Amino acid sequence: MQTADVIIIGGGIVGSSIAYHLTEAGCRNVLVLEREAHQGKGSTGKSMGGVRAQFTTPVNIQMSLYSIPFYAAFGEQLGHPSGYRPQGYLFVATKPAHLEYLETNRRLQESLGLKDVRMISAAEIVAMVPQLRSDDILGGNLCTTDGFVDPYSAMTGFIQRAVENGATVWKSAEVTAILKNGNRVAGTMTTRGEVHARVVVNAAGPWAAQVAEMAGVNLPVTPLRRMLIPTEPFDEVSHEIPMVIDMTNGFHFRPEGRGFLLAWNDPEETPGFKFDFDPEFIEKILIRAADRVPCFENLAVNPKRAWAGLYEMSPDHHGIIGEFEELPGFYAANGFSGHGVMHAPATGKIIADLITSRSTKVIDNPSVLSPARFKSGRLLHETALL
Ligand SMILES: Cc1cc2nc3c(=O)[nH]c(=O)nc-3n(C[C@H](O)[C@H](O)[C@H](O)COP(=O)(O)OP(=O)(O)OC[C@H]3O[C@@H](n4cnc5c(N)ncnc54)[C@H](O)[C@@H]3O)c2cc1C
Repeated sequence: MQTADVIIIGGGIVGSSIAYHLTEAGCRNVLVLEREAHQGKGSTGKSMGGVRAQFTTPVNIQMSLYSIPFYAAFGEQLGHPSGYRPQGYLFVATKPAHLEYLETNRRLQESLGLKDVRMISAAEIVAMVPQLRSDDILGGNLCTTDGFVDPYSAMTGFIQRAVENGATVWKSAEVTAILKNGNRVAGTMTTRGEVHARVVVNAAGPWAAQVAEMAGVNLPVTPLRRMLIPTEPFDEVSHEIPMVIDMTNGFHFRPEGRGFLLAWNDPEETPGFKFDFDPEFIEKILIRAADRVPCFENLAVNPKRAWAGLYEMSPDHHGIIGEFEELPGFYAANGFSGHGVMHAPATGKIIADLITSRSTKVIDNPSVLSPARFKSGRLLHETALL
């Protein structure tokens, strides 16, 4: 019979960060169970890699205030690159209500300690990205420490250091049941046999609700398809620009390699485990791209290079982090609603803190993210979704 101190179900960026933070805290007998033959085949390998502190709730801002400096120091601390590029996030306002919204958010972000966010005028935006159609641009917000990371590389850095610290990773090991002892979690049944542990963490990304169901607890996480389009090489727009978000319709893009990565969250998308890329999406997004960046009319796109992945949506668009009251020892690290890469460092630290010392300083009040909030109706509200 195998035993571990902590079992982590899922070897994506969140599970890997938890393994890293636990082993750094001295908890060495950590076992990561990943059902695929390779890590990163879930949402982590499909992500756009954006990291930002420009959120609207204190807890999401605090999660980013831990995570972004962590990514900045990643190479030095973990000996592996995170690929962090602080090129910024530029929210472009086209309505007075957008400007009011950005101003309110910026004040909150600054009050929590974010130093690098500022209002930016329409003229400055045009100077920064002259190719934007600017007749309706009123201004915006820029945070210069926001930017991008390489999610696969960061995941690799986390897991490599965790393994150096003593953690074990089982690949091709699917969890098929959660074991209990009385009302407490006792381990997992896997396709490679039974493992006993007094602590089990659900880091199964979009599949988290299925894993929770095995434990007999309710976890409201729903998969939602998101599609990304990398363009062919394109030099008519600078590759030093920030992530640009057109607040008119949510279209956003950032430099990637010699081209750009285009994203837009289709409001008509419906929940489900849909992994196929819909070719009709290309026209939908290119219309919005050319509307804001007229020279994008000349973009070349190869549909075979576009892809789809799954957001793991929670009802209030915040991560669900913490122990289940009804099943002591069973923890959730799920439901990041499109922010799991940028919040993976904070999540790993919070889960490790809660397991090893039952409290954390990363966020003011970790109970706001606990799974219990859905029972008590104490939901949060995040509106800065991309
Ligand atoms: C198109 C797209 C763009 C995105 N852009 C961004 C972005 O810009 N910034 C950002 O922060 N986030 C972004 N995200 C979201 C981000 O990718 C996710 O929030 C994050 O990767 C979640 O990581 P994870 O480790 O929880 O999940 P995953 O990477 O999905 O890992 C979960 C793992 O659990 C394994 N697993 C599941 N069930 C079992 C089981 N029963 N037994 C064993 N293993 C199991 C899976 O195989 C998988 O490897 C984006 C997502 C998509 C799809």
